[in-house]
Amino acid sequence: MVRVPRRPLVAGNWKMNGLRSSTAEFSRIVEGARKLAGVDLMICPPATLLVLFAAAAKGTSVLIGAQDCHAEPSGSFTGDLSAEMLKDAGASAVIVGHSERRSSHHETDADVRAKALAARRAGLCAIVCVGETRAEREEQRALAVVGTQLDGSVPDGAIAENLVVAYEPVWAIGSGVTPTPTDVADIHAFIRQRLGSRLGEEGQGIRILYGGSVKPSNAKELLHVANVDGALVGGASLKADEFLAIASVYGRQSRNIG
Ligand code: PEP
Repeated sequence: MVRVPRRPLVAGNWKMNGLRSSTAEFSRIVEGARKLAGVDLMICPPATLLVLFAAAAKGTSVLIGAQDCHAEPSGSFTGDLSAEMLKDAGASAVIVGHSERRSSHHETDADVRAKALAARRAGLCAIVCVGETRAEREEQRALAVVGTQLDGSVPDGAIAENLVVAYEPVWAIGSGVTPTPTDVADIHAFIRQRLGSRLGEEGQGIRILYGGSVKPSNAKELLHVANVDGALVGGASLKADEFLAIASVYGRQSRNIG
């Protein structure tokens, strides 16, 4: 088995939360990040805060991500933002295909793939989300669903610099319920294998995050699983203390994972 060093990434998805006054909480994250080595930290605020947070993070290691983008670079798309605009606002990454967008905005795998390609075009890393619903898991279809989403959402030619995959079982998001470490290991091994067969050696370097009710209390057991290269954190990322406590499970040193 090829062992490729992958630097952990802990990314916070603030969703539709945060006002300009939230810069104080974000600054606490930036301050705390100074004490953490060997892990990348990213916050994905709402688009209204991208410029402000990018300015607050300037000169630090904290990365800024966006939560969605349009596939086109510009045009008559009222209310949408292009990947180029997000890059211009200070983002280095963008989440695409989050389950809330797949369900509320009816985004298909083809839509997600087009957005991931747009991210690449603009020089952003796409964080492509996949994950099964409760019913799909109960029907023993989790692997099949995740495999189909991966195949349809990940663009050809993806490499570690322009792609991160986030496995987020829909039923674990915001519910306080998580899969067992064994279930996480099984799905992440499956995703790793699928990326490898599709993208070759490059697939070994792509980070696979776990997301869904990650908290300081369960971070160690979930994030030290093989092929888990970090976390996508929702609710707990809104509090600097909780987010930093989650990131701190990776300690101070880079390591080989997988
Ligand atoms: C998310 O929505 O990406 C997420 C992981 O949320 P939470 O951590 O709140 O479950």
